[in-house]
Amino acid sequence: MNIRQSIMALALGAAITFSPTISDAYVFNDSQEHIIGEILANEYEIKAHSWHNPYLNIIAEELINHNSSKLNLNDGRHSRYLYPVKECTEPGLNATTVPSGRTYISSQMLDFVFSIPSDGEINYRSQGARKGSNLYQRSMMGAVLAHEFSHWYSRDFQRKIDTLYGEAGITKLIGKNHEATRDNLIIIMNDIATNQLIAGGRFSIENEYLADKQAVEFLNNSQQLSAGSLISFLYRLQMNENKHIVAGVNDKEVILANEYNPHPDTAERIRRLENQLTQLSNGRVTFRDKKFYLDGKPFLGTGTLKATNNVSSLDRTYYVAGQVANLIRENSFGRVRLHPVNANEDENNPNTTEFYLVYDSTINNESRVLDKVSLAPSEALYVRDVVAAPKGYNFTDDAKLVSEIAYLE
Ligand SMILES: [Zn+2]
Repeated sequence: MNIRQSIMALALGAAITFSPTISDAYVFNDSQEHIIGEILANEYEIKAHSWHNPYLNIIAEELINHNSSKLNLNDGRHSRYLYPVKECTEPGLNATTVPSGRTYISSQMLDFVFSIPSDGEINYRSQGARKGSNLYQRSMMGAVLAHEFSHWYSRDFQRKIDTLYGEAGITKLIGKNHEATRDNLIIIMNDIATNQLIAGGRFSIENEYLADKQAVEFLNNSQQLSAGSLISFLYRLQMNENKHIVAGVNDKEVILANEYNPHPDTAERIRRLENQLTQLSNGRVTFRDKKFYLDGKPFLGTGTLKATNNVSSLDRTYYVAGQVANLIRENSFGRVRLHPVNANEDENNPNTTEFYLVYDSTINNESRVLDKVSLAPSEALYVRDVVAAPKGYNFTDDAKLVSEIAYLE
């Protein structure tokens, strides 16, 4: 094949890939998927009271707006879309997305994610603020949403039906019209539970890994959400599992009896995500025993960042590790700067001490938040060499962090 022919082959491939009739390739097309999803959503909302949570949707929109080629709301331009996220009363640590693009987060999950101590418990007395200035728990919530949106983006429902049954199998089960009715849905769900439990379970577990992997991309494209927060969330979940039974995760009896959407071992999810961050940082960001290594050395000597009133050590360490991996992936070296947390403050005023450490992405010039730092008076001037530091000056840990990341190359 000569060059001209191979270009034509590629062009044809591209044309097929972007064909608007792609959804017909699935046994259940997009509109049937939507109808089935709405039946499931109705059932879900009968069981669990649900309502709109504006703060959850600010986080959801950060993800959607920064991944507009893959995620969208109902904007009139897409036939397939995500709905605004709802909070719900479902008991336990729950995050659910149904095939029509509706996502539900249980109140307990919110309380769990916004607990400041990372000990696997819900701490009602020590909760991170549910407003804009909260970096770390907000990012974990974004990580949970990114994982949920990935299930929708990857069309898990349509692929599952195709994988387990195919056209012929579904026709045998519910007739050749494949009518998207509640009765037919019950027939399919019963068949999965009785005849496809192992195959269905295996498919679900693979989809969990896939959703984690895709979530990393969604988080990396966003502005103040870190892929590292998905890992610190999973560590938190793992601690919780060791204390409580979580349905579908460590409740082996439920998985074997009638659970047809099990989740894989949390430790394996963590291992794969840590490896993913290592790979996308060209091997430079690595992890061992919940510690963050940069270029083979424990970051800032210890591999863990100090906790503050607003964040646990684990959550901050993984937040920063994820963002450093992203900076390296994007080759955004030399583009790190300090941005006052309070927009009215001047970065050159010696008394300005609260900063976001940000970098401007080489990909789209958008700024991404690396961390929130608390410096001593004048330190912001010293670390930027605007003013020379006095001889023998002892830099704070946060100032050392700023220098370490700012001079990365
Ligand atoms: Zn999942």
